Amino acid sequence: MTENPAEAKSESSQYDYSFDYIQKKLEGKKDSFGMLMKEIIRAGICTECGTCAAVCPVLEWDHLAGQPKLIGKCTGCGICYNQCPRTITDPIQLMGEFKTGYVSNTNIPEVIGAQDGGTVTSLLSYLFDEHLIDAAIVSMKDPKNPWHPVAQIITNKDDAIKAAGSIYSHSQTVEALMDAIREGYRSIAFVGTPCNIDAVDKMTSSPAGMLKYFMRAHILKIGLFCMDSFSPEAIYPFFEQDGIDLTKVVKMDINKGKFHIYYDYDGEPVKSYTIKELDKFKSSSCNFCTDLTAENADISIGSVGSGPKKNTAFARTGIGAEIIEDAAKKGYIKIEPYNAINLNAVLFLAKLKKVSQYNIQKRKVFIVQDSKEHEEPKVETKPEAEEGIVKPLGSRKFLSVSKSIKEEDAVLNISLTNSVGYLLEDLKIRIVIVEELFEKKPWITTIRELFPYETIEIGYPLETGTDGIVYSNVLVEASTKKYGKIFSRTFKLAPQEEK
Ligand SMILES: Cc1cc2nc3c(=O)[nH]c(=O)nc-3n(C[C@H](O)[C@H](O)[C@H](O)COP(=O)(O)OP(=O)(O)OC[C@H]3O[C@@H](n4cnc5c(N)ncnc54)[C@H](O)[C@@H]3O)c2cc1C
Ligand code: SF4
Ligand code: SF4
Ligand code: SF4
Repeated sequence: MTENPAEAKSESSQYDYSFDYIQKKLEGKKDSFGMLMKEIIRAGICTECGTCAAVCPVLEWDHLAGQPKLIGKCTGCGICYNQCPRTITDPIQLMGEFKTGYVSNTNIPEVIGAQDGGTVTSLLSYLFDEHLIDAAIVSMKDPKNPWHPVAQIITNKDDAIKAAGSIYSHSQTVEALMDAIREGYRSIAFVGTPCNIDAVDKMTSSPAGMLKYFMRAHILKIGLFCMDSFSPEAIYPFFEQDGIDLTKVVKMDINKGKFHIYYDYDGEPVKSYTIKELDKFKSSSCNFCTDLTAENADISIGSVGSGPKKNTAFARTGIGAEIIEDAAKKGYIKIEPYNAINLNAVLFLAKLKKVSQYNIQKRKVFIVQDSKEHEEPKVETKPEAEEGIVKPLGSRKFLSVSKSIKEEDAVLNISLTNSVGYLLEDLKIRIVIVEELFEKKPWITTIRELFPYETIEIGYPLETGTDGIVYSNVLVEASTKKYGKIFSRTFKLAPQEEK
């Protein structure tokens, strides 16, 4: 610390200047303290280094709770987020190395069924016309099994146009690639999701890769951006039960957190769902996937970052850049320069994907009704031995609790998450219907260990009358031997609003 006030002033103004400078640099990004809370602190991966609190005038370190605390108004500048050692903020870490990028779209009138700008199909058309490839691997809809992907070897532009459009399920593209190589094709464009591209990349570059020493085949990797895919066995029966005729569907599209289904290319969607609603149908592998933009491809193509009926395209290798530039020169696609891309939108989604696995509940415990009839139906409101009770450290909430009603089964689903960051042992949970001063249907269970950030889900059977569910008040209480009562809340159940 300097003694000289003039020096102190200049130090503080230099500090203020750098704070303002970084604030300007981060403008337009959506990183804020809320994101830090969600992605790092609540996810349980905060190292408690205190950096976030050290850099922000409205944050201080809460020593009791072991986490940063807001003591003023957050401007959402994102400085804390960008200093935290656990966040991923470097663009290269988020979307890999690339030479240049474009906003692009097709210039070929026959490309009508394309997913977005038709860039993938147009590049395949260019590659066939210019004899740069003798085959391509694409994924088409199975004619016998609507909307199930079938990976195919194609050898001409017409089939590339027929294969346009996205199918949001895993496709066994590498199987088709190996068949193509066995059949003698030597220059092959391979279209696939980032996980497909990774497989080909590993096969061509890892020491034990099947294609590493097979020098005769050249594979051009065209990667599709990908946030998630769905299990056809689970999602299509759900769509069908919801009245969708899969044979009539011409397009499925994910846009701004919604999954839209179309019977008509240019019409309104026949049905739209939030991605959250469909989360349970997501392919489990996608929860562990961190690559949005196909980082190992020659060319990566997606829709985020560009407008409707356009694509964001990144050329990652020299050959990738040459192909895009030449296809544009020869009139297959229209391209706009790199700065036409809304890069913040791409980086935002890429970041969500990189951190999404932090928020996976690794173990979920489903509780069925306790069969121990003689257990006393009460929680530990008082500790068994007064001296045995431990004063909890800090002010962090022990449990976060949410509820939803499954009307068809007359069940109240209650999720309890250990939000305190350390193990809760011998957690006793009591649920009861409260009618005025009386309690009914007491239900109790004990969870031996609830790990930090672990969630348990409990199905509590509701009462039913002649008109269906009886909507009462339900009290949920929890206690542990060590801390006494740690949660108590009455949920006022109300009939679900009509959708
Ligand atoms: C599962 C999945 C998830 C996606 N998620 C996102 C996302 O979150 N954000 C985003 O910006 N973009 C996403 N995309 C990419 C986007 O849907 C378009 O594929 C991309 O923008 C290219 O558009 P296009 O008009 O050039 O494609 P088109 O010209 O229509 O060509 C699409 C090509 O993709 C191939 N294809 C279709 N389905 C599959 C499949 N399951 N596996 C392998 N190849 C397939 C087709 O054979 C065709 O050659 C996703 C794509 C898929 C398949
Ligand atoms: S003001 Fe900026 S640095 Fe402070 S908490 Fe909010 S986003 Fe973080
Ligand atoms: S900077 Fe990140 S890791 Fe460090 S205390 Fe803050 S949230 Fe935790
Ligand atoms: S999210 Fe990842 S694992 Fe899932 S389909 Fe996309 S690239 Fe593959």
